[in-house]
Amino acid sequence: MSCDFLALAQPGVQKLSPYVPGKPVDELARELNLDPAGIVKLASNENPLGPSPKVLAAIQAELPELTRYPDGNGFALKQRLAQRYAVRSEQITLGNGSNDILELVARAYLAPGLNAVFSEHAFAVYPIATQAVGATGKVVPAKNWGHDLDAMAAAIDENTRVVFIANPNNPTGTWFGADELGRFLARVPESVLVVLDEAYIEYAEGSDLPDGLEFLAAHPNLLVSRTFSKAYGLAALRVGYAISSAQIAGVLNRVRQPFNVNSLALAAACAALDDTEYLTASRKANTAGMRQLETAFAELGLQWIASKGNFIAVDFARDAAPINQALLREGVIVRPIASYGMPTFLRVSIGTEAENARFIEVLHKVLAS
Ligand SMILES: *Cc1c(COP(=O)(O)O)cnc(C)c1O
Repeated sequence: MSCDFLALAQPGVQKLSPYVPGKPVDELARELNLDPAGIVKLASNENPLGPSPKVLAAIQAELPELTRYPDGNGFALKQRLAQRYAVRSEQITLGNGSNDILELVARAYLAPGLNAVFSEHAFAVYPIATQAVGATGKVVPAKNWGHDLDAMAAAIDENTRVVFIANPNNPTGTWFGADELGRFLARVPESVLVVLDEAYIEYAEGSDLPDGLEFLAAHPNLLVSRTFSKAYGLAALRVGYAISSAQIAGVLNRVRQPFNVNSLALAAACAALDDTEYLTASRKANTAGMRQLETAFAELGLQWIASKGNFIAVDFARDAAPINQALLREGVIVRPIASYGMPTFLRVSIGTEAENARFIEVLHKVLAS
């Protein structure tokens, strides 16, 4: 008889449920024999505008170097980020997506016997990264679907090494202000690393969402994590970054893969940072699309959670799984979030005006039947 290699995995890994991504368009097309061109995917908080021409040109220019390893230190991108955000290059950690950053933190600072604090309804990668290294996740009940920062601070114990918070949070879209963040950071012991996940921060410019970087000087235990996957539109390339103290960045640098960000991603991210036109267009489309969906939900008598991300969680006040199935049959992919403890909700990413309109049309049909 062969060995049970599940039982041989470390206990944290045995209990892990893998991350469930949004259903790919081609998969749904195969399953239902649909034309992929007619399918609308609003399931993974992807940028609906398509890649920026400047990014495509940067990738094209990099292609002849494909046989070479990338710059393992990401010198050019770090330099640009340092300039943009008035920090030192030594404070920056580049990641294979910001998902990589979260895992580097877990690997460097968590272990069996230690714990990470995060909120109910928080990003699924926090429990995965925590359990994968054998540490325990301390889940703090949410307040009005958002982070209860007071309760999170109170949940920190002598074995807590990391707190994961997201602003805005995915999948709820909820956020906290500068005062709340300041009060929270003041309460967290200096020895506990606070990971402030700002994956959607670029959508929030000009709003009351705080800029985590402004808290770095006063709080050396803070790490701000950001990504090129959302507002910059580079999800497929996998590139994100963290800004922290140089010491924390140095620790993360010890555990990362030597070439964790590929050369096309590095070139694309540099080009994307300079492409203010694309970012402005992303924000504009997102604001308009958010209003389009909110208006439709109101007309349908549905409740939703106000969101500062590029997605919105809508409540059907009953099991949303059959509604999701009916939407899929019509070629519309959104995200069920029952695994986040929200079985009556679906999370809908903001698409183009036409994609949103198609979703709304199909939703009307599904809810009428
Ligand atoms: C999308 C997302 C990320 C980042 O994903 P990457 O593509 O790995 O950069 C991180 N945190 C949250 C909350 C997200 O929603």
